[in-house]
Amino acid sequence: MFGFSFMKLLVLAAIITAVWYGFKMMTKITEDRKDRVDNLRKSASRPTTEDMVACPECGTFVAANSSSKCDRANCPY
Ligand SMILES: [Zn+2]
Repeated sequence: MFGFSFMKLLVLAAIITAVWYGFKMMTKITEDRKDRVDNLRKSASRPTTEDMVACPECGTFVAANSSSKCDRANCPY
């Protein structure tokens, strides 16, 4: 009788331990996911940097992916 209840206690302890570790793992996964989403949101809201290149005509720096000449009205180009 004692052996049987001891086994039940052991199994109960094992289940509790498994649930405890499972909960810890779930919490860690949830926090990791939250951190990842936060980082993603942070990097998405951060303005992207653009390379600047000098206008070949007047030397004014303009974004590289825009048209080759600057937007200055008095650009000689
Ligand atoms: Zn220019």
